[in-house]
Amino acid sequence: MNRFAGKVALVTGSSNGIGRATGILFAQEGAKVTITGRNTKRLEETRQTILKAGIPESHVLAIPADLATEEGQDKLINETVKKFGHLNILVNNAGTAFSDAEGRIGLDQPVSDFDKVMRINLRSVVTLTQKAKDHLIKAKGEVVNVSSIAGGQQAMTGAMYYAMTKSALDQFTRSTAIDLIDHGVRVNSVSPGVVVTGIGEAIGMPEGSFEKMAEFLESRKECIPCGKAAQPIDIANVIAFLADRKLSSYIIGQSMVADGGSSLIMGMNTVDMNSILTS
Ligand code: NDP
Repeated sequence: MNRFAGKVALVTGSSNGIGRATGILFAQEGAKVTITGRNTKRLEETRQTILKAGIPESHVLAIPADLATEEGQDKLINETVKKFGHLNILVNNAGTAFSDAEGRIGLDQPVSDFDKVMRINLRSVVTLTQKAKDHLIKAKGEVVNVSSIAGGQQAMTGAMYYAMTKSALDQFTRSTAIDLIDHGVRVNSVSPGVVVTGIGEAIGMPEGSFEKMAEFLESRKECIPCGKAAQPIDIANVIAFLADRKLSSYIIGQSMVADGGSSLIMGMNTVDMNSILTS
């Protein structure tokens, strides 16, 4: 399938996880892609995977950059447009969480962690989208943000600051969607549940711990009803759907949940009422 032929996509956070799968998928489906991250070794792994899939070198631009900086963001936009001539699709995927070395959570977690996570998960999305705006308007393009079910209605004391960034991102998606649709640009987002990626290690969990946690959660119907954590490609497919105007043209400003049913479960519905009432 060559559904993105002639399109140029910039995918942030494509040196690992969901962004890597998305960059590879876009390239396989005909797009010219800019891939990026701070870790040059992992970024090169993404580039090599794309090339091994038979995609010409001229279709891939790898830019090491720290998205938390304005210079890094300027470099991404300027070099993408310089090499490929235009920009059709912006995927704001890069993101992380910061855990406290002393294990403090909720309001006890230092506000410096709040500042750091806001800067990468939210502020960088706002400023990168501002910098991309004129190019996207020219191309009548698409923006897909990567949010999380953590930003939903339920509380999340264990990762409160992270969850707050995603709630705010959902509002950004809705509001910019209305702002930009006047110019022919669509904005949507995907809200994944548990996805097996590098995020565990990125936030300081020991190697293998995130996978162990995912295995536990997929064994409990009240945690992941479909019985399986997602792989990055499961989310990349949703991102591609939202970036594909032929398939999703009438979807504007929505956050599409892809979580195996996790966010549909309410705690009180996980207990067996019959056994309580008859005991
Ligand atoms: P990974 O840790 O595997 O990938 C995160 C990517 O973001 C990496 O490529 C990393 O690149 C990049 N990144 C982080 N900080 C910066 C920075 N300052 N500058 C540039 N790039 C940066 O995690 P995921 O793939 O899981 O995360 C992708 C998105 O998915 C995030 O927004 C996350 O919140 C969201 N998400 C993930 C879920 C999950 O269960 N995994 C669930 C719900 C949402 P590098 O390290 O090279 O800088």
